[in-house]
Amino acid sequence: MTQSPPQPTVAIAGGGLAGLAAACALADSGFRVTLFERRPYLGGRASSYEHPGTGEIVDNCQHVLFRVCTNLVEFYRRIGVEQQIRWYDEMTFIEPSGRASVMHASPLPAPLHTMPSFLRFPFLDATDKLAIARAMIPLTLTTQPDTGDSFAQWLQRHGQTQHAIDRFWKPILISALSEELDLISVPYAAQVVRESMKTPAARHMGVPTIPLTELYNAAGDYIRARGGELQFRSAVTEFQPETSQVCVQLAQRQQAFDYLVLALPFDGLDSILPDVPESARLHEMLSHFECAPITGIHLWFDRQISDLDHAVLLDRTIQWMFHKSRLQPMRSGSVSAEQVGSYVELVVSASKSLIDKSRAEIVDLAVPELREFFPAARGASLIKSTVIKEVHATYSPRPGIDAYRAATQTAWPRVFLAGDWTATGWPATMEGAVRSGYLAAEALARAAGVTPAKFLVADLPASGLMRLFG
Ligand SMILES: Cc1cc2nc3c(=O)[nH]c(=O)nc-3n(C[C@H](O)[C@H](O)[C@H](O)COP(=O)(O)OP(=O)(O)OC[C@H]3O[C@@H](n4cnc5c(N)ncnc54)[C@H](O)[C@@H]3O)c2cc1C
Repeated sequence: MTQSPPQPTVAIAGGGLAGLAAACALADSGFRVTLFERRPYLGGRASSYEHPGTGEIVDNCQHVLFRVCTNLVEFYRRIGVEQQIRWYDEMTFIEPSGRASVMHASPLPAPLHTMPSFLRFPFLDATDKLAIARAMIPLTLTTQPDTGDSFAQWLQRHGQTQHAIDRFWKPILISALSEELDLISVPYAAQVVRESMKTPAARHMGVPTIPLTELYNAAGDYIRARGGELQFRSAVTEFQPETSQVCVQLAQRQQAFDYLVLALPFDGLDSILPDVPESARLHEMLSHFECAPITGIHLWFDRQISDLDHAVLLDRTIQWMFHKSRLQPMRSGSVSAEQVGSYVELVVSASKSLIDKSRAEIVDLAVPELREFFPAARGASLIKSTVIKEVHATYSPRPGIDAYRAATQTAWPRVFLAGDWTATGWPATMEGAVRSGYLAAEALARAAGVTPAKFLVADLPASGLMRLFG
């Protein structure tokens, strides 16, 4: 009787999107996966938990995706949660007066599909719109090099009005890249614009209808169903790469594996690198990264404050409203969303101005602002609230940073890197994290001689006139 060869073993450090994507792909390809997660739950920076102060299950912050996130969408399909994403093809912009304008697609071909609604926006005048249209041409149709300039400098050079900057570029790019325009590199901004214009479906926004950890628990089930194992409250503290294996050090024990994927945030990786000369280059690269904060303000009102599911908010500190009691039907039980009060989350990206404020100060700032946008909130009583400051939300996409984003291969043939900060060509997003996980899985499978080793899926194809520009 012939014995089948032993299953190659893989340790994955980190149960965020990057680690989960790598683990699912490898578990599906015949590897025996053990995932170590420091916390007691999955999802990493995209997770939910029972908030002690309010007794509610809250997402650490609202997470959205777009149809251009093809690997994330494929990951949702793979783990069987694609039906838990609700897609929207309209985006509502609201001014503090309460006036709302809706961006939606027309029958015109890409990249002109949103032009009719853009031209009707009352919060931009003709000079603003002309300036934006002029800047959109190079951003949409050409690739922009990183010259060291910030996107704010680029906008100045391209004759943008203050209104165009404040009411168009800031709402779109600060929320997409979680950083101020004067710290965003030009290629990152151009990528956001170009990707969202390549085809009308590209800007359809997806919102999970269940809490984030519930969504990503499906990935845990997927791994277990393929013989894999998840170990919670298990921080990897060190690893020793050897010729024929990698030893992974946990608090009280050591375990040997054939391969290791380090799917950790950049600020978590630095401390576990082994004290050997090969680590020097990675230490040096990691030292160039800085964090950008995002703050979520969670408010529960005694009545409905709006019939919108979400909206972009202009000219104030709060930037987005997500109407969680409408977005997550389980919150209203058997009664309709209209019959229960409103639970809203307000999101402030690049929220440096809020970091030193107390939670009470932030709520005191946010509620009057919210009432400017939504008149129905003026008569509603605030029942409870909480503020979640994610100080290490994403890496700051500064000019020059791409030179320091590490490839998945390391100096050690059995050790691979993943994480939203690695060299994926995408900013710090769930899509970037899943791409990094799939890239690590591809490289590891190739190293183990397992073929075909292809997990990344194709980008959304361009349509209309965008096909002429690749
Ligand atoms: C507030 C906020 C809002 C965001 N909004 C969006 C959005 O709307 N859309 C979007 O696409 N992206 C958004 N992002 C970004 C997105 O969440 C991240 O890019 C993505 O989740 C990163 O995944 P990751 O796996 O690379 O890292 P992480 O999610 O950080 O995962 C790393 C995991 O490793 C674990 N870990 C750390 N050290 C160890 C160790 N030594 N041993 C074992 N485990 C360890 C951590 O606990 C964590 O679970 C947001 C992020 C934040 C914080």
